[in-house]
Amino acid sequence: MCIFAYITTDCMDHKCKICAKPIKGRSDKIYCSTHCKNIYHKKLRYASKVAAIEINGYLKRNYSILLEVLGKNKIQLKVYRNLLERKGFRFKYRTHFHINSKGKTFFYLYDIAWMEFSDDEILIVRKRRLKH
Ligand SMILES: [Zn+2]
Repeated sequence: MCIFAYITTDCMDHKCKICAKPIKGRSDKIYCSTHCKNIYHKKLRYASKVAAIEINGYLKRNYSILLEVLGKNKIQLKVYRNLLERKGFRFKYRTHFHINSKGKTFFYLYDIAWMEFSDDEILIVRKRRLKH
């Protein structure tokens, strides 16, 4: 069963999105009943959860690897790219990125960033929160 079908199915024919019964009453109604509406939201939550599980796993794994390599007290560290690869680091999974004034791109995993220092070196930087 495709769980996404319920979410993407168009509803132009004015049938309930879940059970396909004709809808009585207002023309902007999408579900025939509160029961069907609840089913829809349950399926939507489930689909969001399933979609997030795999990527969240990669992000957490990447973060753990950076944390492990950087250690507790270092602010920054240069390592060989293949060290991270050997540990299973997936370079394409990051939470956000920032381009600094020198045009260098820092890829973030939460509060730790990395950037391509050279073809085979990666600079890992712990970003401390600024105190105001
Ligand atoms: Zn229904």
